[in-house]
Amino acid sequence: MDSVLYEQRGRVAIVTMNRPQVCNAQNIKMTQALDEALVRAVGDDSVGAIILAGAGPHFSAGHDIGTPERDIDKSFTRTATTWWEHSDKGGVENIFVREQEAYLGMCKRWRTLQKPVLGQVQGACIAGGLALAWCCDLIIAADDAFFSDPVVRMGIPGMEYFAHPFALPARAAKELLFLGEKMSAERAYQLGMVNRLVPRAELEKETLALASRIAEMPRFGLALSKMAINQAEERQGLLDTINATYGLHQLAHAHNTLTAPDHLAGQNPKSIADKLK
Ligand code: ZN
Repeated sequence: MDSVLYEQRGRVAIVTMNRPQVCNAQNIKMTQALDEALVRAVGDDSVGAIILAGAGPHFSAGHDIGTPERDIDKSFTRTATTWWEHSDKGGVENIFVREQEAYLGMCKRWRTLQKPVLGQVQGACIAGGLALAWCCDLIIAADDAFFSDPVVRMGIPGMEYFAHPFALPARAAKELLFLGEKMSAERAYQLGMVNRLVPRAELEKETLALASRIAEMPRFGLALSKMAINQAEERQGLLDTINATYGLHQLAHAHNTLTAPDHLAGQNPKSIADKLK
């Protein structure tokens, strides 16, 4: 089964994560397939806007930390990376390089795709799922969507793509991290993290309608508009924040490796899911 699906409707490319049996947990295989699909859409002149979606009841449960297809020790393809092979390295080097490439590097790259990307979010959007949603230019959420970054339970200050204080007001970002609880789609909408809040049954139709309207706008004008807003976020310190916090994130992984069963402090998907109930 393909881990990412690609289809085009009118001038809109729909890129769908397709691991619904594991709530679209992101392994490296799927991350690379996502990258290929998104780059394909940007390179196709008949595509004016892109939807990033997740198959099944949930957008994404985050990075794959426990399915049978977890592949953290596998190599990634060499096309987009500026790093060396991680899988045969030890200690901090292994995790630092892998996460820099597969999590942080990819998200930073997708944020700069020069066509509008709309995140279509239903159900769970947890940790690494948030990273994907926050890479998108607009987020359309179903009323059953919820957002959470529970990795403080692992002693880690948020997932790798630390856009938290840009996606949310600072105090709301602290609340998200400190409590690790679910934020409802309604609250995310009130806080401006989400552009549209729609009934679950209307999600695909509403997102496609919005993307189709955007896709009719001039391609270059859209790209320049996206660049203008992205550059403003960068001058406000988005990339500095992400890059600086990555050091704290890796410090937490190293601390866990020294004091706990593994770099995730022995936490697994079930223990996290139980606490999120
Ligand atoms: Zn990490």
